[in-house]
Amino acid sequence: MTSTIPKIRDALHATFRSGLTRPLPWRQHQLYQLARMAQNERELIYDALQIDLGKPKTEVLVNEVGSIIARAVKSAKQLPEWAKTEYPDVADRQKLWKPAIYKAPKGNVLIISPWNYPMVLSFQPLIGAIAAGCTAVLKPSELLPTFSQLLEEIVPKYLDPNAYRVVNGAVPETTELLELQWDHIFYTGNGKVARIVASAAAKHLSPLTLELGGKSPVIIDSAYDIDLAAKRILWGKCNNAGQICVAPDYVLIQRDKQDELVKAFQKHYNAFFPKGALDSPSFGSIVSDSHYKRLISLLSRTKGEVVLRGRADAARRRLEPTIVKDVVDGDSLLEEEIFGPILPIVPVDSLQQAINFVNARSHPLVLYTFSDNESLKQQLVSETQSGGIVFNDTFQQLAVSELPFAGVGESGYGYQFMKHTYDTFTQLRSSIDMPKEAEAQLAMRYLPHSEEAVKA
Ligand code: NAD
Repeated sequence: MTSTIPKIRDALHATFRSGLTRPLPWRQHQLYQLARMAQNERELIYDALQIDLGKPKTEVLVNEVGSIIARAVKSAKQLPEWAKTEYPDVADRQKLWKPAIYKAPKGNVLIISPWNYPMVLSFQPLIGAIAAGCTAVLKPSELLPTFSQLLEEIVPKYLDPNAYRVVNGAVPETTELLELQWDHIFYTGNGKVARIVASAAAKHLSPLTLELGGKSPVIIDSAYDIDLAAKRILWGKCNNAGQICVAPDYVLIQRDKQDELVKAFQKHYNAFFPKGALDSPSFGSIVSDSHYKRLISLLSRTKGEVVLRGRADAARRRLEPTIVKDVVDGDSLLEEEIFGPILPIVPVDSLQQAINFVNARSHPLVLYTFSDNESLKQQLVSETQSGGIVFNDTFQQLAVSELPFAGVGESGYGYQFMKHTYDTFTQLRSSIDMPKEAEAQLAMRYLPHSEEAVKA
């Protein structure tokens, strides 16, 4: 059977060329339709994510569905402002030339999304592509078969199928998509696949956004309220069972405060999960058998001391939050992004040692710090590098959709969220319009070159 993928790309490309996606009211209508889809189909979305990921209802309805509705509607409302042609402030003699910056859609784009926050990570980029006036293919993750199939069914009921298509599949289909030319590729996922995507994009010189992960550290200043830090860290870690790109990955704390932190984690674990997390409807499952085995293997090889032992249920791919103390450099838990409900604590002798520990590794997506000390905060801003830097909380930064979201170095490049996603899919098209009356002003540029022009 011949593949339909090149035909889909060509059809979308033709739609883009036809100008269908250009008018702002058309784009706004598509954005409202996207919000309607999330609203009307929320129960089906919840059911699908229950089957594929065991996602708690609040996480699906508030974090996934709710934020997509809010962002689609907000983008539709703000679009006229974003899309305005800009007239930069220029030198007086150039005002006559009418310098302008048009906001041009980049064209036909490809969005490849992962499994862990599948509504947000599929539709957040799509919202930006629609707002910018692009046509798009969305390729959801094959690790969520029920959800991906659902998207293929519901998206064409709400969005114009001439402009937006869902293409499902695994590595062969994604490889085929990547062989084609796209005017932008937006990839969210892991760094290994990101390198494949980047090589494919390079062949066509396609611009690229890479939203990746990494090990996001937490530094706790011993003068901070340890009990509150533990509560806020554990909450961030429990979201989607630790399978979020911004999950706190490991904690750095001064050695003499480690046991106080462990006690606080135990206290808050008991409050969050009075009957344990294994059967709690507020706690999700691990996405696949291979990810489950990977986590169990990381735990089996740690040399640290397990102080909050999470029960595990392989059949249901469930693993309770597990906290490990006295973890040292070289440990299995510090090898790779954990992406699951395991939290290692690395004791250090000083805050400077914690900063050095972070700086000795790849730039993380987020650096979390718990401290009331303003000069320490500024020291961290200037002496470390990370996609974002968050003080005294975890995960909550994602609620501020006006902040640009991005990695740096190994955690990726390119910005997203609201106007930042719109900008990602928009070309700034510079223009001047030279009036006939400018001839006098321009006289000196014409050939042959005169001595006067050189002096001027
Ligand atoms: P995944 O396995 O679902 O893969 C992501 C996408 O890559 C999928 O659509 C998949 O089909 C495609 N893919 C997989 N192998 C491929 C190949 N060989 N060639 C081409 N395409 C391929 O998701 P994942 O990568 O396990 O996602 C988890 C990672 O994503 C973590 O590292 C996490 O930190 C990161 N992440 C980052 C963000 C962010 O916004 N920065 C958000 C969520 C997740």
